[in-house]
Amino acid sequence: MNDNSIRRLVIVGGGTAGWMTATALRRLLYPELTIEVIESEEIGIIGVGEATIPPFRRHNALLGIDEREFVRATQATFKLGIEFRDWARPGDSYIHGFGTLGLDLDGQPFHQYWTRALQIGAAKDLGLYSFNVQAARQGRFMPTPSDAPKNTPLEDIVYAYHFDASLYARYLRRFAEAHGVRRVEGRVVEVRRHPESGFVETLVLQDGRSVSGDLFIDCSGFRGLLIEQCLHAGYEDWSHWLPCDRAWAVPCENVAPPVPYTRATARPAGWQWRIPLQHRVGNGHVFSSRHMSEDEAAAMLLANLEGRPLAEPKLIPFHGGKRRRAWIGNVVAIGLSGGFLEPLESTAIHLIQTSIAKLALLFPERDCSEALRNRYNSQMDGEFERVRDFLILHYHATERADTPFWNYCRTMEIPESLREYIALFRDSARIMPKSDELFTTVSWAQVLIGQHIASRRYPPVIDRLTDAELRQFIEHVEQVIGSCVAVVPAHEAFIARHCKAPPP
Ligand SMILES: Cc1cc2nc3c(=O)[nH]c(=O)nc-3n(C[C@H](O)[C@H](O)[C@H](O)COP(=O)(O)OP(=O)(O)OC[C@H]3O[C@@H](n4cnc5c(N)ncnc54)[C@H](O)[C@@H]3O)c2cc1C
Repeated sequence: MNDNSIRRLVIVGGGTAGWMTATALRRLLYPELTIEVIESEEIGIIGVGEATIPPFRRHNALLGIDEREFVRATQATFKLGIEFRDWARPGDSYIHGFGTLGLDLDGQPFHQYWTRALQIGAAKDLGLYSFNVQAARQGRFMPTPSDAPKNTPLEDIVYAYHFDASLYARYLRRFAEAHGVRRVEGRVVEVRRHPESGFVETLVLQDGRSVSGDLFIDCSGFRGLLIEQCLHAGYEDWSHWLPCDRAWAVPCENVAPPVPYTRATARPAGWQWRIPLQHRVGNGHVFSSRHMSEDEAAAMLLANLEGRPLAEPKLIPFHGGKRRRAWIGNVVAIGLSGGFLEPLESTAIHLIQTSIAKLALLFPERDCSEALRNRYNSQMDGEFERVRDFLILHYHATERADTPFWNYCRTMEIPESLREYIALFRDSARIMPKSDELFTTVSWAQVLIGQHIASRRYPPVIDRLTDAELRQFIEHVEQVIGSCVAVVPAHEAFIARHCKAPPP
């Protein structure tokens, strides 16, 4: 600490982004820092964002949160991957499973052996070689057991959660307040800035109170209260690549035990999510308003619910893209205020986590040096762009020609960065993500193959195995995975035994 150290951190917004930021920075930064969260019950939170991906578990681990207590408190279930139905062709189904795929051999990824095995008629559906996909299809779940047999997928079971977003925000709020974060209830109506530096100094609330700070985190959701309304950061709109711009969301009753995966079913002008929780199922229809009216989209969602709706559907408009600069002066935008990529691969909460981690590493002094801001902004640009490309792949790599929406997606221009990935894979089954990329070779392989992108060749080194050796290898992998999955209990039974939530 020195005279220039930041002492007062003010977070505007008490949604998932606000409370995740408050809890993580409380844990990661120095104790002299005061952290205040301003939120408005009158405005409320967005109330969606209920499916996560495995890195989310690091947030809980950082805070020392007990997993079972968290699952009970948020009516959570476990998630092994995402099922994509009807994406490349009507009637299709594949699961993008977390964790490993088959077994890498001599440094070469499994899907390359699988590509060759397919050519000689020795390979089955790719999902049979993924522990997570098999367990998900059979409705089974357990975390890594302490007595897991060596060199099997049971040694490291990779999973995430589905949870109730409102309960999660409440849970984190309790946690944050217990660790010294101060909550201020009220609506910010005025932002006062230093006349020369332009730095934000004070936020004025509707009732006349004011909150001053050295650094402000804008977690105010889509409205971007500080970053856009006050600082006019500008927005990079990617809706020409990700044409969906609306979602209807509605919870419904559970009619069956919760499955351990999210489902994304393609619809004529978008797709529908299904997120199973302990007390209900979260549903939503993400669609392009250029290709389907809001009324038609709402009717389609309600017609495709498995149980009785538990609320009126809520319409959420959005634009796929990101803020041109997420950090300006002494304001950093985290969460929906910083940008939004639609929830197809459940990445928004992960981007919140990434923003927090980068901010903690680049945490400034009061002058918020330009070098730090530039580094943060360029790193976050890269994070958003890489997730964007992975999402576009799902839309573009389709054979569907049955609606104007799918025709548009199939024939649209795509970013050069994605074109290169696809070309490399088509040419030789190779996938070379950047070292810090969220989606690894395993993820890309499952989606590329799931979307029916075929490789002409595979790397020559894969021919080191004879046909007989290759057959034996592939069969062995399938058999090990099958026997590992067989010992895993039903997802519902695991929850009932270890972390059943009380009735809401
Ligand atoms: C349709 C849809 C589906 C999604 N699904 C997923 C998913 O499955 N997985 C995933 O990871 N993410 C998903 N997301 C994203 C996820 O919902 C968000 O990233 C997450 O909820 C964080 O939201 P937030 O905290 O930024 O904003 P919000 O929840 O909107 O919170 C904003 C906060 O700011 C406060 N506020 C605003 N203005 C003021 C003011 N003037 N004064 C005081 N307080 C103010 C509000 O009261 C609120 O507390 C989805 C998003 C959408 C739109």
